[in-house]
Amino acid sequence: MKPIRVGPIAYDVEIVDNLQDDGGILDGRIRHSDAVIQLAASLSPQAHLVTLWHEVLHALFTQAGIHDHDEKRITALSYDIVQVLTDNPQLRSYEDAQAEIPKRRRGR
Ligand SMILES: [Zn+2]
Repeated sequence: MKPIRVGPIAYDVEIVDNLQDDGGILDGRIRHSDAVIQLAASLSPQAHLVTLWHEVLHALFTQAGIHDHDEKRITALSYDIVQVLTDNPQLRSYEDAQAEIPKRRRGR
């Protein structure tokens, strides 16, 4: 997978067998110090995508200076973002969004 660019940092994405820390088994993890996002190899493709967004949200919050991350909110947002982008592919690029917006009528 190509690195995920968040702000000025490109995070390498690694798929890892038996991903865990002191607290137990993990689905994903972000290491800001060396710009790596790790995803558990055991996840389904859908869970990989949601978990990747979860870690991207950690990156966004950290870069915004928010270091007290609410895991429940990040988890909820990761599912919501994947759902909205899946249901609305026109939101994936500016060009796609522009193509969906009716042209403004002149003279009104
Ligand atoms: Zn998290």
